[in-house]
Amino acid sequence: MRAIPLPQLNFTDVLNTCVGSISNQPLTTRLNAINPQLNNAAQDFDAKATTADLFQILPFAGADADIVSGQVTKAELKGLYTFHLVPATKPARQYYDYLMMRAPLRICPFCGFGQATTLDHYLPKAKFPLLSVHPNNLIPSCADCNKGKSAGIAVTKEQQSIHPYFDQAHFINDQWLFAEVIETSPATIRYYAQAPANWSTDDQTRISNHFDEFKLAQRFCVQAGDELSNLRGELEIDFQVSQQAGVESALRKKYIGASLQHVNSWRTALYQALAGSNWYCSGGFK
Ligand SMILES: [Zn+2]
Repeated sequence: MRAIPLPQLNFTDVLNTCVGSISNQPLTTRLNAINPQLNNAAQDFDAKATTADLFQILPFAGADADIVSGQVTKAELKGLYTFHLVPATKPARQYYDYLMMRAPLRICPFCGFGQATTLDHYLPKAKFPLLSVHPNNLIPSCADCNKGKSAGIAVTKEQQSIHPYFDQAHFINDQWLFAEVIETSPATIRYYAQAPANWSTDDQTRISNHFDEFKLAQRFCVQAGDELSNLRGELEIDFQVSQQAGVESALRKKYIGASLQHVNSWRTALYQALAGSNWYCSGGFK
């Protein structure tokens, strides 16, 4: 989980640039006629996002051919994104590229390790078509986080995953991601989410939901498995030189280095667990 500063984009600029590249004049007219509704939806999104109340926005239940507002269908609103924001040849692509570049080192903010290769609609455009090109609803994401997340819509505050632009710093700065060493041969790792007890109950449940929704336990486990097999040879040398104490000290250094970067990364939790495991340090690593 990583935070990204709120994009400095004006919704009206993005919308007008998308609408401006439509060649079908009747569609342009119909979209311009619902400009107030589109702006209201964006303003409502921003207000609710700042208090983590996006779940209060009601989803649109209709099909692609159904009218969402005025005389504009759901398919036409989704098309604003697909045909006028995404294609490299369209002028609004500049906003797509700007949003993609906001992910530091191109790392996906939802999982903290995948490469951000796409924009994710925090509120999916299929259910919230008025928000299909709202920049604050568009978050750089890796393909696994974008495609793999559950299709369910949050209907309570605690069901909402973390929003990288809006959510509070404690989701980033307080440790909630932990791991434990499973004493198998070779060793394996189990990841779990455990929020600090002083967080609100809503926030404690939200971080667990975020962890489950993006299937982080399984995906972190794959990363850790690779790391553990790479570590084996290195720790063998530490062990030969200074036995268990040498292994512990090497792992502790890696833990401190990782935690200075990101408190809640799979690597931080991994090294914290490994350095704290007597079994692993005394030979379980072999
Ligand atoms: Zn991801």
